[in-house]
Amino acid sequence: MELLGMTGDELSRYCEELGYPAFRGRQIADWLYRKGACEPSAMSNLPAELRERLAAEATISRREVVTESRAADGTTKYLLRLADGETIESVLLPYADRTSVCVSSQVGCAAGCLFCATAECGLVRNLTTGEIVDQVLTLQERGGRRVTHVVFMGMGEPLANLSNVLKAIELLHGEVGISMRRLTVSTVGITPAIRRLAEMDLQLTLAVSLHAPDDGLRRKLIPMAARFPLHDLIRACRDYADRTKRRITFEYLLLAGVNDSQAQAQALARLIKGALCHVNLIPYNRVQGAGKREEWERFDRPSKSAIAAFRAVLEREGIEVTQRMERGHAISGACGQLRRRAGLT
Ligand code: SAH
Repeated sequence: MELLGMTGDELSRYCEELGYPAFRGRQIADWLYRKGACEPSAMSNLPAELRERLAAEATISRREVVTESRAADGTTKYLLRLADGETIESVLLPYADRTSVCVSSQVGCAAGCLFCATAECGLVRNLTTGEIVDQVLTLQERGGRRVTHVVFMGMGEPLANLSNVLKAIELLHGEVGISMRRLTVSTVGITPAIRRLAEMDLQLTLAVSLHAPDDGLRRKLIPMAARFPLHDLIRACRDYADRTKRRITFEYLLLAGVNDSQAQAQALARLIKGALCHVNLIPYNRVQGAGKREEWERFDRPSKSAIAAFRAVLEREGIEVTQRMERGHAISGACGQLRRRAGLT
């Protein structure tokens, strides 16, 4: 039995099956998620025989840290090896007043975004709930700081692994103790999953990667988006915001000469006007290394003045705009630069 990834209730039921009272499950959950125990032997308030039983019958699969690279601003990228040998990346972002962790939700990704390093791998597999939560626990320990924010903006498409991601969110909120509002799920825009999330009425933050104001360009940049036309997607986002009263973040990656014109800013404004939202502009980060995709070579980030002009159009239309803080470039830990080391030259 794998303990990491089980909820307090599941652990209680498991303890009952082993012939122990349910409250032992609660104690195990505290050890796993609050105290970061890696071994049953460390769970000092459990009876010795239960500890032995767990050591014999259960596992706590905390991951191995393969490499840790730290940039001058403190941003630290971790390469973690999973039990089956696959590797994923997670990033710790320490700020003065908070500590964010950017987690992966899949090994690889099927979305195929032309500008993203993860796309090159294709989808290998979904991460389990335990593998997602473990990233936060491991980076919290390594960083020596309590994690206050988690963003699902690492490798993978979280809404394509919805059940494991939702359970990880439940654990991060209920067991690790991170406020729901400080958990952000970023998606290429899988409309039916957004509708399901809306029905659950959670207080988490939803970020939707738009990157283009029209379907033609959007499906070129994000091949998976071809299945989810903007018209339906934006309607689902508006419904989501109405239902949850949570402001949606529309992410907009800026690629020079591709999607950064003032006319495109105008079209974007028309698309989202009136929605409870803000736009987060992300200047393109160049993807390093031997990319197989020639398209990468064609992308560039817009000039500061082009970004400012794009932003001004949105603001004139009454849309709130933020700009992604630039961190982690030197260690290829910036947005879109994460990819598996294994198999790369
Ligand atoms: N699959 C999810 C989450 C992962 S990526 C999603 O697409 O939203 C998190 C954000 O980083 C997305 O908005 C993604 O489009 C953006 N991104 C990917 N590659 C990038 C790059 N090279 N430069 C800047 N942002 C990038």
